[in-house]
Amino acid sequence: MKNHLSAALFFAFAASASGGSFDQLRRGLELPLVPDPAPLSRATEALAGDTRYWITVGADDKYDRTALLNAGLDIIETQKAYVSGLIEAELMDQLAAKGFIVKSRRTIQDYARQHLKDFPAGDAAYHNYKETTDLLLALAAEHPAEASLFSLGKTIEGRDIWCLRLNTAEKGEAPSARPAALFMGNHHGREHLSNEVSLALARHLLANKAAPEIRQFLDTLDIYIAPMTNPDGAEYDIASGKYRWHRKNARVNADKTIGVDLNRNYDSLWCQAGASHYPAADTYCGPYAFSEPETQAIKRFVESRPNLKTLMSYHSYSSLLLYPWAGKDTPVESERDRKVFEAMARGMTAFTGYTPQQSSDLYVATGDTTDWAYAARGIFSFTTELEGTTFYPGAAMIDKASVKNVKAALYLLGVTADPYKLAR
Ligand SMILES: [Zn+2]
Repeated sequence: MKNHLSAALFFAFAASASGGSFDQLRRGLELPLVPDPAPLSRATEALAGDTRYWITVGADDKYDRTALLNAGLDIIETQKAYVSGLIEAELMDQLAAKGFIVKSRRTIQDYARQHLKDFPAGDAAYHNYKETTDLLLALAAEHPAEASLFSLGKTIEGRDIWCLRLNTAEKGEAPSARPAALFMGNHHGREHLSNEVSLALARHLLANKAAPEIRQFLDTLDIYIAPMTNPDGAEYDIASGKYRWHRKNARVNADKTIGVDLNRNYDSLWCQAGASHYPAADTYCGPYAFSEPETQAIKRFVESRPNLKTLMSYHSYSSLLLYPWAGKDTPVESERDRKVFEAMARGMTAFTGYTPQQSSDLYVATGDTTDWAYAARGIFSFTTELEGTTFYPGAAMIDKASVKNVKAALYLLGVTADPYKLAR
């Protein structure tokens, strides 16, 4: 992981509510940033007017990290004694008063200037919404005996949330009694790699449909792959031709800020921890649970599929495999289920090399996909944080991440028919 501290920008203050006065802290925050002599590059034009900062803040444990999420920090990188991420200027100004020590800060424009090596034009290997749609249509057309395509629903901007179904017996939205698995990508707009891994899985299964192991899956399981759950956010992120570092959907909030964090909008202890009620925050949970058409679509779909046994939600980046609870500090209550979660996590990370852990060991965050799917429907649900050190890791990362995550997905499919065999 890169060290984002720059000597020129480094400033720290022993901030705590009891240590130095609030005025001193304010003065600390108002230290002028070292002006960058370079004009805004192409990378940062799209960020003109964006008032977020990339900050590094002292955080010793998951309780600190949860408190920082509550304060509106979008934690992107985690180290032993600190975290880094994006935060609105107004919320950053409140951190010191809440006892947090901001070790460094830089504007998002400055951060992007240094950390964005590939521009969208150089990232042609990534699929935008239209390319994703075309690819899914082509896969369904080329493999009519195994695949079909349907829409889970429409987004705020009217885009279809496509879902490719792999099942040799049932097509489209027809019910099936077969054990089912759901794979989803791109809940967060800027996490384009998660769309690619989902697409790679779909392509792998169909390209190798004659192989005995895959044939078995196609003949006995009901497999759903929705690579782009938040197409509005993904498109907004690249619409200007430059990345916007956009996480949320395209909802225009009451205060005119854009977006609700879809992975904080599910109805499981909604917005009780690790999420923000502040609409400008990147972890804004929305006005109420399932307020967004994207999460409503997934809710409707999942509730209509009692045969769903397993679920994988791809995100980026941190090289982690996370399982419930995310929103509670305690393990899942059923010991049998916990054994299954742990065994599945070991099974998948044997292929990815990622770190398996209960989600809340990282920080407590309520309202995510996996907690809701497990709490409401008993589905063994996982979040994969793909690898890399940036949301925009370039084209070479696609194959690297896909190869190992497809293997992990095949493992998950291999245990979908009878997850509880792992607890016996
Ligand atoms: Zn994410």
